[in-house]
Amino acid sequence: MYQIDKDKVKKIKEIVSKSKKILITGHTNPDGDAIGSALSLFHFFNKLDIETTVVMPDEITNSTSWLVGANSILINEDNKALVSKHVAEADVIFCVDFNEPKRLKSLKDAVVASKAVKVMIDHHPQPNDFVDFTFSDTNISSASEYVYYFLKEYNNNLIDKTIAECIFLGITTDTGCFNFSSATSPTFIAAAELLAYGVDKQKILSNTFDNYSENRMRLMGYVLQEKLVVMPEQKAAYIGITKEEFEKFDYQNGDHEYFVNLALSIKNVEVSALFLEMEESVRISLRSGSDFDVNVLARKYFKGGGHKKAAGGKLYMSLVDTISRFEKAIIASMNIKNN
Ligand code: 5GP
Ligand code: MN
Repeated sequence: MYQIDKDKVKKIKEIVSKSKKILITGHTNPDGDAIGSALSLFHFFNKLDIETTVVMPDEITNSTSWLVGANSILINEDNKALVSKHVAEADVIFCVDFNEPKRLKSLKDAVVASKAVKVMIDHHPQPNDFVDFTFSDTNISSASEYVYYFLKEYNNNLIDKTIAECIFLGITTDTGCFNFSSATSPTFIAAAELLAYGVDKQKILSNTFDNYSENRMRLMGYVLQEKLVVMPEQKAAYIGITKEEFEKFDYQNGDHEYFVNLALSIKNVEVSALFLEMEESVRISLRSGSDFDVNVLARKYFKGGGHKKAAGGKLYMSLVDTISRFEKAIIASMNIKNN
């Protein structure tokens, strides 16, 4: 079982016990881990009768919107005045599943400027020091798994089925259903303990992964058939999706989730990329199925970051230019790797 820094948890307990308002926030385009870790903390502090609010920079997707408490999450893009008020009034701010303020997008300035005591619970490399307390460990599968260790140390007795389900969802989504190498022995121990709270594993899996539209399935078929490019020499593959294609398949937020992983199931493909053409920019998702570090690639070429095996970025250039940049980058990087 993971050994969390008990003194640090104790200090936070003391601060929270004197606090009136807690705010929890996560990264832009919040995924299952961001929402799972945020909502588990939310339910936990509610049980302590502390006014707690979850705010996210932008929309959440169908794969998490069914979680208990998801409907109370405030989205900054939709409700800037109210969110600013909550950020300004918070005594403690929990920052989950991100390592640097820029991942907060439109919420960045308000959170950084806030006088609240800030606590980071995260598993990305190179955590930024904008917080007062850092729980950061790249060996932990997910921020949600880390939150589980935090809550266990904080007050084990308060963990219940609802909290356990939020955590379980975060771990499940961030580990590709316990498939990625990030799912280690402690992760499985944590998962087993969470199941003992009565977590309905099948409900979580079907609500998360079997909750997409027919259009999304057809978009997936189309991109695999028409848009997948394999670079055998570089052991890489990518898919670029245009705005017109999104419109054709009536794209809903989150429909591209997991597309980037698909090409990794091709024999000898070790690096996979997905490019999404937005209004003025291109969103980039990168995945590695080997020891190739896509976090380095994302930082160097795509103004982004992430983990060794899953990273992303965003460029304000055309889709064609972004893809050409990727091709050059991967040729250069694979040459270095192979020499
Ligand atoms: P995804 O491809 O699912 O959007 O993101 C994969 C991983 O990369 C996540 O851990 C996410 O936090 C990180 N990531 C995605 N986009 C960015 C970005 O623009 N900047 C940074 N620093 N990390 C990113
Ligand atoms: Mn995560």
